[in-house]
Amino acid sequence: MLIPREIPKIEPLIRIGLILPQDKIESVQVSFSDPQCFELETEKKLYPSCNNQDELTLQLRKGELHISQFNVTSPTINIIPSIQDEEPYITLFGMIAGRGFHWQKRITASFWGKIEFSVMDHKIIAINELPLEQYLKCVATSEMSAQCPSEFLKAQTIVSRSWLLANIEQKHKHLGFDICNDDCCQRYQGMANTTDVSITSTNDTLGQVLIFNDQICDARYSKSCGGSTEKYENVWEGDPVPYLLSIPDVNESGAVYCSPEIVSEDSLKFYIGDVDEKGKYFRWTYKLAQSELVSSLKEKCELTAVNILELNPLKTGDSGRIIDLEIKYSDKAGKTQSVLLQSEYEIRNILSSSFLYSSAFTIAKESDDSFQLNGKGWGHGVGMCQIGALGRAFSNHDYASILKHYYPGSELKTIYQS
Ligand SMILES: [Zn+2]
Ligand SMILES: [Zn+2]
Repeated sequence: MLIPREIPKIEPLIRIGLILPQDKIESVQVSFSDPQCFELETEKKLYPSCNNQDELTLQLRKGELHISQFNVTSPTINIIPSIQDEEPYITLFGMIAGRGFHWQKRITASFWGKIEFSVMDHKIIAINELPLEQYLKCVATSEMSAQCPSEFLKAQTIVSRSWLLANIEQKHKHLGFDICNDDCCQRYQGMANTTDVSITSTNDTLGQVLIFNDQICDARYSKSCGGSTEKYENVWEGDPVPYLLSIPDVNESGAVYCSPEIVSEDSLKFYIGDVDEKGKYFRWTYKLAQSELVSSLKEKCELTAVNILELNPLKTGDSGRIIDLEIKYSDKAGKTQSVLLQSEYEIRNILSSSFLYSSAFTIAKESDDSFQLNGKGWGHGVGMCQIGALGRAFSNHDYASILKHYYPGSELKTIYQS
Protein backbone atom coordinates (compact mmCIF):
# COMPACT_ATOMS: atom_id res chain seq x y z
CA MET A 1 0.00 0.00 0.00
CA LEU A 2 1.04 3.62 -0.51
CA ILE A 3 2.92 5.30 2.31
CA PRO A 4 1.41 8.67 3.32
CA ARG A 5 3.46 11.72 2.33
CA GLU A 6 6.12 9.60 0.58
CA ILE A 7 7.02 10.70 -2.95
CA PRO A 8 7.66 7.49 -4.94
CA LYS A 9 10.81 7.36 -7.09
CA ILE A 10 9.47 4.58 -9.28
CA GLU A 11 5.95 3.85 -10.49
CA PRO A 12 4.09 2.26 -7.55
CA LEU A 13 1.56 -0.56 -7.52
CA ILE A 14 -1.75 0.55 -6.10
CA ARG A 15 -4.66 -1.30 -4.54
CA ILE A 16 -8.26 -0.37 -5.31
CA GLY A 17 -11.36 -1.75 -3.62
CA LEU A 18 -13.84 -2.87 -6.30
CA ILE A 19 -16.35 -4.72 -4.13
CA LEU A 20 -16.73 -3.52 -0.52
CA PRO A 21 -18.46 -5.22 2.45
CA GLN A 22 -21.15 -2.48 2.37
CA ASP A 23 -22.14 -3.62 -1.14
CA LYS A 24 -23.42 -6.81 0.55
CA ILE A 25 -22.44 -8.94 -2.44
CA GLU A 26 -22.49 -12.71 -1.84
CA SER A 27 -21.80 -13.97 -5.35
CA VAL A 28 -19.66 -12.58 -8.19
CA GLN A 29 -19.53 -13.63 -11.80
CA VAL A 30 -16.14 -13.27 -13.47
CA SER A 31 -15.02 -13.67 -17.09
CA PHE A 32 -11.67 -13.35 -18.86
CA SER A 33 -10.37 -11.75 -22.04
CA ASP A 34 -8.43 -15.01 -22.49
CA PRO A 35 -8.63 -17.66 -19.75
CA GLN A 36 -5.20 -19.04 -20.68
CA CYS A 37 -3.60 -15.76 -19.58
CA PHE A 38 -4.73 -16.04 -15.94
CA GLU A 39 -3.63 -18.07 -12.95
CA LEU A 40 -5.94 -18.81 -10.05
CA GLU A 41 -4.42 -18.92 -6.58
CA THR A 42 -6.21 -20.24 -3.52
CA GLU A 43 -4.77 -20.44 -0.02
CA LYS A 44 -3.37 -23.90 -0.76
CA LYS A 45 -2.93 -24.29 -4.49
CA LEU A 46 -1.98 -22.45 -7.68
CA TYR A 47 -3.92 -23.31 -10.83
CA PRO A 48 -1.58 -22.24 -13.65
CA SER A 49 -4.40 -21.44 -16.04
CA CYS A 50 -8.14 -20.80 -16.10
CA ASN A 51 -8.25 -22.72 -19.38
CA ASN A 52 -11.69 -23.83 -20.58
CA GLN A 53 -13.30 -21.60 -17.95
CA ASP A 54 -14.64 -18.60 -19.82
CA GLU A 55 -16.71 -17.69 -16.80
CA LEU A 56 -16.40 -18.38 -13.10
CA THR A 57 -18.80 -17.72 -10.24
CA LEU A 58 -17.40 -17.00 -6.79
CA GLN A 59 -19.94 -17.67 -4.06
CA LEU A 60 -19.92 -17.43 -0.31
CA ARG A 61 -20.04 -20.82 1.34
CA LYS A 62 -19.71 -21.21 5.12
CA GLY A 63 -17.74 -17.98 5.43
CA GLU A 64 -15.33 -18.87 2.60
CA LEU A 65 -15.24 -18.43 -1.16
CA HIS A 66 -16.34 -21.29 -3.35
CA ILE A 67 -15.86 -21.80 -7.10
CA SER A 68 -17.89 -24.74 -8.35
CA GLN A 69 -16.06 -24.87 -11.72
CA PHE A 70 -12.82 -25.71 -9.87
CA ASN A 71 -14.59 -27.43 -6.97
CA VAL A 72 -12.51 -25.35 -4.60
CA THR A 73 -13.24 -23.51 -1.34
CA SER A 74 -10.75 -21.06 0.16
CA PRO A 75 -10.77 -17.96 2.41
CA THR A 76 -8.94 -16.03 -0.34
CA ILE A 77 -8.85 -16.42 -4.11
CA ASN A 78 -6.52 -14.40 -6.34
CA ILE A 79 -6.85 -14.14 -10.10
CA ILE A 80 -3.48 -13.15 -11.52
CA PRO A 81 -2.52 -12.30 -15.12
CA SER A 82 0.39 -14.49 -16.21
CA ILE A 83 1.70 -11.87 -18.63
CA GLN A 84 2.48 -8.34 -17.48
CA ASP A 85 1.11 -6.10 -20.16
CA GLU A 86 -2.14 -4.34 -20.88
CA GLU A 87 -3.68 -7.11 -22.97
CA PRO A 88 -5.39 -9.51 -20.54
CA TYR A 89 -8.31 -8.24 -18.51
CA ILE A 90 -10.85 -9.63 -16.06
CA THR A 91 -14.53 -8.67 -16.21
CA LEU A 92 -16.69 -8.45 -13.09
CA PHE A 93 -20.49 -8.43 -13.40
CA GLY A 94 -23.00 -6.66 -11.14
CA MET A 95 -20.64 -4.25 -9.39
CA ILE A 96 -22.01 -1.15 -7.65
CA ALA A 97 -21.28 2.32 -9.08
CA GLY A 98 -22.28 5.58 -7.39
CA ARG A 99 -22.54 4.02 -3.90
CA GLY A 100 -25.15 5.88 -1.83
CA PHE A 101 -25.67 8.66 -4.38
CA HIS A 102 -28.71 9.37 -6.53
CA TRP A 103 -26.97 7.81 -9.53
CA GLN A 104 -26.21 4.44 -7.86
CA LYS A 105 -26.51 1.52 -10.26
CA ARG A 106 -25.10 -1.88 -11.15
CA ILE A 107 -22.40 -2.05 -13.79
CA THR A 108 -20.17 -4.57 -15.53
CA ALA A 109 -16.53 -3.49 -15.76
CA SER A 110 -13.21 -4.95 -16.93
CA PHE A 111 -9.86 -4.55 -15.21
CA TRP A 112 -6.17 -4.90 -15.94
CA GLY A 113 -3.94 -6.36 -13.22
CA LYS A 114 -4.63 -8.80 -10.42
CA ILE A 115 -7.87 -9.19 -8.45
CA GLU A 116 -7.87 -10.55 -4.89
CA PHE A 117 -11.11 -11.86 -3.43
CA SER A 118 -11.63 -12.35 0.29
CA VAL A 119 -14.45 -12.40 2.85
CA MET A 120 -15.28 -9.91 5.59
CA ASP A 121 -18.41 -9.89 7.75
CA HIS A 122 -19.90 -12.60 5.51
CA LYS A 123 -19.59 -10.39 2.44
CA ILE A 124 -17.20 -10.51 -0.51
CA ILE A 125 -14.35 -8.02 -0.88
CA ALA A 126 -12.56 -7.63 -4.23
CA ILE A 127 -9.30 -5.68 -4.52
CA ASN A 128 -7.59 -4.83 -7.82
CA GLU A 129 -3.80 -4.39 -7.75
CA LEU A 130 -2.04 -2.83 -10.74
CA PRO A 131 0.63 -0.28 -11.72
CA LEU A 132 -0.50 3.32 -11.08
CA GLU A 133 -0.22 4.45 -14.71
CA GLN A 134 -2.50 1.63 -15.93
CA TYR A 135 -5.04 2.68 -13.30
CA LEU A 136 -4.82 6.33 -14.37
CA LYS A 137 -5.59 5.48 -18.01
CA CYS A 138 -8.94 4.24 -16.75
CA VAL A 139 -9.67 7.03 -14.26
CA ALA A 140 -9.74 10.03 -16.62
CA THR A 141 -12.24 8.18 -18.82
CA SER A 142 -14.32 7.02 -15.84
CA GLU A 143 -14.55 10.48 -14.27
CA MET A 144 -15.45 11.99 -17.65
CA SER A 145 -15.67 10.48 -21.13
CA ALA A 146 -12.81 9.60 -23.49
CA GLN A 147 -14.32 12.08 -25.99
CA CYS A 148 -13.01 15.00 -23.90
CA PRO A 149 -10.23 17.11 -25.42
CA SER A 150 -6.77 15.73 -24.64
CA GLU A 151 -5.73 18.83 -22.63
CA PHE A 152 -8.65 18.14 -20.28
CA LEU A 153 -7.72 14.43 -20.02
CA LYS A 154 -4.10 15.34 -19.23
CA ALA A 155 -5.21 17.81 -16.52
CA GLN A 156 -7.58 15.20 -15.03
CA THR A 157 -4.85 12.54 -15.07
CA ILE A 158 -2.35 14.77 -13.24
CA VAL A 159 -4.96 15.78 -10.68
CA SER A 160 -5.95 12.14 -10.11
CA ARG A 161 -2.30 11.04 -9.82
CA SER A 162 -1.49 13.88 -7.39
CA TRP A 163 -4.55 13.35 -5.19
CA LEU A 164 -3.86 9.62 -4.98
CA LEU A 165 -0.14 9.93 -4.20
CA ALA A 166 -0.71 12.73 -1.65
CA ASN A 167 -2.80 10.03 0.00
CA ILE A 168 -4.17 12.27 2.73
CA GLU A 169 -7.54 10.68 3.35
CA GLN A 170 -6.82 6.92 3.49
CA LYS A 171 -10.48 6.18 4.03
CA HIS A 172 -10.12 2.42 3.46
CA LYS A 173 -6.76 1.56 5.05
CA HIS A 174 -8.45 -0.88 7.48
CA LEU A 175 -9.79 -2.89 4.51
CA GLY A 176 -6.33 -3.30 2.94
CA PHE A 177 -6.58 -1.01 -0.08
CA ASP A 178 -5.48 2.53 -0.94
CA ILE A 179 -8.71 3.79 -2.47
CA CYS A 180 -12.14 2.57 -3.56
CA ASN A 181 -13.45 2.60 -7.13
CA ASP A 182 -16.16 5.19 -6.64
CA ASP A 183 -17.05 8.83 -6.01
CA CYS A 184 -16.04 8.40 -2.36
CA CYS A 185 -12.42 8.36 -3.65
CA GLN A 186 -12.25 8.70 -7.41
CA ARG A 187 -14.28 7.02 -10.06
CA TYR A 188 -12.66 3.94 -11.65
CA GLN A 189 -14.72 1.80 -13.99
CA GLY A 190 -11.99 -0.23 -15.61
CA MET A 191 -10.35 -0.24 -19.00
CA ALA A 192 -13.33 -0.59 -21.34
CA ASN A 193 -13.80 3.17 -21.83
CA THR A 194 -10.18 3.92 -22.71
CA THR A 195 -9.28 5.01 -26.23
CA ASP A 196 -6.01 5.66 -28.06
CA VAL A 197 -6.40 9.38 -27.29
CA SER A 198 -7.05 8.84 -23.59
CA ILE A 199 -4.13 6.39 -23.31
CA THR A 200 -1.81 8.85 -25.08
CA SER A 201 -2.99 11.63 -22.76
CA THR A 202 -1.87 9.56 -19.78
CA ASN A 203 1.41 8.48 -21.40
CA ASP A 204 2.22 12.12 -22.25
CA THR A 205 2.03 13.11 -18.56
CA LEU A 206 3.76 10.01 -17.15
CA GLY A 207 4.90 10.55 -13.56
CA GLN A 208 3.82 14.23 -13.49
CA VAL A 209 2.31 15.59 -10.29
CA LEU A 210 1.45 18.95 -8.75
CA ILE A 211 3.91 20.03 -6.06
CA PHE A 212 3.59 22.75 -3.40
CA ASN A 213 6.35 23.27 -0.79
CA ASP A 214 8.11 20.05 -1.84
CA GLN A 215 4.99 17.97 -1.19
CA ILE A 216 2.55 16.41 -3.63
CA CYS A 217 -0.66 18.46 -3.70
CA ASP A 218 -3.83 17.04 -2.23
CA ALA A 219 -5.51 17.90 -5.54
CA ARG A 220 -9.23 17.77 -4.78
CA TYR A 221 -11.72 18.24 -7.60
CA SER A 222 -15.45 18.21 -8.23
CA LYS A 223 -17.87 18.22 -11.13
CA SER A 224 -18.99 21.87 -11.34
CA CYS A 225 -18.16 24.76 -9.01
CA GLY A 226 -21.18 26.79 -10.19
CA GLY A 227 -19.15 29.97 -10.82
CA SER A 228 -16.56 30.04 -8.04
CA THR A 229 -14.54 27.31 -6.33
CA GLU A 230 -14.73 26.80 -2.55
CA LYS A 231 -12.01 26.93 0.12
CA TYR A 232 -10.77 23.63 1.53
CA GLU A 233 -11.54 24.57 5.15
CA ASN A 234 -15.20 25.28 4.35
CA VAL A 235 -15.72 21.67 3.27
CA TRP A 236 -13.33 19.56 5.36
CA GLU A 237 -11.95 19.84 8.86
CA GLY A 238 -8.38 20.90 9.36
CA ASP A 239 -6.12 23.80 8.48
CA PRO A 240 -6.54 25.82 5.30
CA VAL A 241 -4.65 24.41 2.30
CA PRO A 242 -2.71 27.23 0.54
CA TYR A 243 -3.57 26.09 -3.00
CA LEU A 244 -7.26 25.19 -2.38
CA LEU A 245 -8.85 28.65 -2.36
CA SER A 246 -12.07 30.23 -3.52
CA ILE A 247 -11.42 31.39 -7.11
CA PRO A 248 -13.89 32.75 -9.68
CA ASP A 249 -14.18 30.37 -12.66
CA VAL A 250 -14.68 33.04 -15.33
CA ASN A 251 -13.01 34.26 -18.52
CA GLU A 252 -12.01 37.84 -19.45
CA SER A 253 -15.55 38.65 -20.57
CA GLY A 254 -17.06 37.36 -17.36
CA ALA A 255 -18.49 34.12 -18.83
CA VAL A 256 -18.37 31.19 -16.39
CA TYR A 257 -16.32 28.28 -17.75
CA CYS A 258 -18.60 25.64 -16.21
CA SER A 259 -21.78 27.28 -17.55
CA PRO A 260 -23.85 26.40 -20.65
CA GLU A 261 -22.42 29.59 -22.20
CA ILE A 262 -19.15 27.67 -22.74
CA VAL A 263 -20.16 24.01 -22.30
CA SER A 264 -23.73 23.59 -23.56
CA GLU A 265 -26.07 21.13 -21.85
CA ASP A 266 -26.41 19.29 -25.14
CA SER A 267 -22.69 18.89 -25.76
CA LEU A 268 -22.06 17.94 -22.14
CA LYS A 269 -23.63 14.53 -22.56
CA PHE A 270 -20.80 13.54 -24.90
CA TYR A 271 -18.17 14.53 -22.37
CA ILE A 272 -19.56 13.53 -19.02
CA GLY A 273 -19.10 9.98 -17.68
CA ASP A 274 -21.91 7.56 -18.39
CA VAL A 275 -22.83 7.06 -14.73
CA ASP A 276 -24.09 10.58 -14.16
CA GLU A 277 -27.62 11.68 -14.68
CA LYS A 278 -27.76 14.35 -17.31
CA GLY A 279 -28.96 16.98 -14.87
CA LYS A 280 -28.87 20.74 -14.77
CA TYR A 281 -25.39 20.87 -13.34
CA PHE A 282 -24.89 24.63 -13.48
CA ARG A 283 -28.23 26.04 -12.22
CA TRP A 284 -30.85 23.74 -10.74
CA THR A 285 -33.97 23.77 -8.60
CA TYR A 286 -35.14 21.19 -6.11
CA LYS A 287 -38.57 20.98 -4.54
CA LEU A 288 -38.07 19.86 -0.96
CA ALA A 289 -41.32 18.50 0.47
CA GLN A 290 -42.03 18.80 4.21
CA SER A 291 -42.65 15.05 4.30
CA GLU A 292 -39.27 14.26 2.71
CA LEU A 293 -37.36 16.35 5.25
CA VAL A 294 -39.42 15.01 8.17
CA SER A 295 -38.61 11.41 7.23
CA SER A 296 -34.97 12.23 6.53
CA LEU A 297 -34.57 13.83 9.99
CA LYS A 298 -36.11 10.75 11.54
CA GLU A 299 -34.01 8.28 9.58
CA LYS A 300 -30.67 10.10 9.51
CA CYS A 301 -30.75 12.27 12.69
CA GLU A 302 -33.21 10.28 14.85
CA LEU A 303 -35.33 13.42 15.36
CA THR A 304 -39.12 13.51 15.34
CA ALA A 305 -40.27 16.67 13.61
CA VAL A 306 -43.95 17.28 12.97
CA ASN A 307 -43.64 20.43 10.93
CA ILE A 308 -40.58 22.13 9.37
CA LEU A 309 -40.77 25.85 10.14
CA GLU A 310 -37.61 27.42 8.72
CA LEU A 311 -34.35 26.62 6.96
CA ASN A 312 -31.75 29.23 7.96
CA PRO A 313 -28.26 29.33 6.42
CA LEU A 314 -25.96 30.50 9.25
CA LYS A 315 -22.61 30.26 7.44
CA THR A 316 -21.99 30.40 3.70
CA GLY A 317 -18.67 29.97 1.85
CA ASP A 318 -17.40 32.27 -0.91
CA SER A 319 -18.74 29.95 -3.62
CA GLY A 320 -22.25 30.26 -2.16
CA ARG A 321 -22.10 26.80 -0.53
CA ILE A 322 -23.94 26.67 2.78
CA ILE A 323 -21.64 25.37 5.49
CA ASP A 324 -23.97 25.65 8.52
CA LEU A 325 -27.71 25.26 8.11
CA GLU A 326 -30.22 25.56 10.95
CA ILE A 327 -33.49 23.66 10.60
CA LYS A 328 -36.29 24.91 12.86
CA TYR A 329 -39.18 22.52 13.40
CA SER A 330 -42.03 21.86 15.76
CA ASP A 331 -42.02 18.64 17.73
CA LYS A 332 -44.90 16.38 18.84
CA ALA A 333 -45.70 18.67 21.78
CA GLY A 334 -45.91 21.66 19.43
CA LYS A 335 -42.67 23.09 20.83
CA THR A 336 -40.18 24.79 18.48
CA GLN A 337 -36.86 22.94 18.24
CA SER A 338 -33.83 23.31 16.01
CA VAL A 339 -31.02 21.21 14.61
CA LEU A 340 -27.78 22.47 13.08
CA LEU A 341 -26.27 20.73 10.04
CA GLN A 342 -22.56 21.56 10.01
CA SER A 343 -21.07 20.51 6.71
CA GLU A 344 -21.92 20.73 3.04
CA TYR A 345 -21.98 16.92 2.92
CA GLU A 346 -24.47 16.65 5.79
CA ILE A 347 -26.69 19.32 4.23
CA ARG A 348 -26.71 17.54 0.86
CA ASN A 349 -27.33 14.18 2.50
CA ILE A 350 -30.16 15.25 4.81
CA LEU A 351 -32.03 17.61 2.48
CA SER A 352 -32.47 15.03 -0.25
CA SER A 353 -32.99 11.28 -0.25
CA SER A 354 -31.00 11.16 -3.49
CA PHE A 355 -28.18 13.51 -2.32
CA LEU A 356 -28.44 17.15 -3.36
CA TYR A 357 -26.21 18.32 -6.25
CA SER A 358 -24.47 20.85 -4.00
CA SER A 359 -25.03 22.94 -0.88
CA ALA A 360 -24.90 26.19 -2.91
CA PHE A 361 -28.56 27.18 -2.89
CA THR A 362 -31.00 29.81 -1.74
CA ILE A 363 -34.26 28.83 -0.06
CA ALA A 364 -37.81 29.99 -0.73
CA LYS A 365 -40.76 28.67 1.28
CA GLU A 366 -43.14 27.70 -1.51
CA SER A 367 -46.11 26.70 0.61
CA ASP A 368 -46.81 25.00 3.93
CA ASP A 369 -45.91 21.74 2.19
CA SER A 370 -42.61 22.51 0.55
CA PHE A 371 -39.51 24.64 0.10
CA GLN A 372 -37.91 25.49 -3.21
CA LEU A 373 -34.11 25.29 -3.33
CA ASN A 374 -32.53 27.33 -6.14
CA GLY A 375 -29.06 25.90 -6.53
CA LYS A 376 -25.86 26.07 -8.51
CA GLY A 377 -22.94 23.73 -9.11
CA TRP A 378 -22.46 20.03 -8.56
CA GLY A 379 -20.19 18.63 -5.87
CA HIS A 380 -18.14 20.19 -3.07
CA GLY A 381 -16.57 22.79 -5.35
CA VAL A 382 -12.99 22.56 -3.99
CA GLY A 383 -10.01 22.48 -6.38
CA MET A 384 -10.42 21.73 -10.08
CA CYS A 385 -13.91 22.25 -11.48
CA GLN A 386 -14.11 19.41 -14.03
CA ILE A 387 -16.69 21.04 -16.30
CA GLY A 388 -14.85 24.37 -15.96
CA ALA A 389 -11.59 22.62 -16.94
CA LEU A 390 -13.44 21.15 -19.92
CA GLY A 391 -14.61 24.68 -20.85
CA ARG A 392 -11.03 25.91 -20.56
CA ALA A 393 -9.79 23.09 -22.82
CA PHE A 394 -12.48 24.11 -25.36
CA SER A 395 -11.11 27.68 -25.06
CA ASN A 396 -7.64 26.39 -26.04
CA HIS A 397 -6.03 26.45 -22.59
CA ASP A 398 -3.35 23.78 -22.22
CA TYR A 399 -3.29 21.43 -19.24
CA ALA A 400 -0.53 23.36 -17.45
CA SER A 401 -2.53 26.60 -17.48
CA ILE A 402 -5.73 24.79 -16.45
CA LEU A 403 -3.91 23.32 -13.43
CA LYS A 404 -2.21 26.63 -12.57
CA HIS A 405 -5.64 28.26 -12.37
CA TYR A 406 -7.27 25.73 -10.06
CA TYR A 407 -4.21 25.08 -7.84
CA PRO A 408 -2.52 28.51 -7.57
CA GLY A 409 1.14 28.44 -6.52
CA SER A 410 1.60 24.76 -7.38
CA GLU A 411 4.21 23.49 -9.85
CA LEU A 412 4.30 20.52 -12.19
CA LYS A 413 7.07 18.01 -11.58
CA THR A 414 7.91 14.60 -13.05
CA ILE A 415 8.68 12.31 -10.10
CA TYR A 416 9.34 9.07 -12.00
CA GLN A 417 10.06 7.95 -15.55
CA SER A 418 8.93 4.81 -17.32
ZN1 LIG B 1 -13.42 5.53 -1.19
ZN1 LIG C 1 -16.57 25.93 -12.40
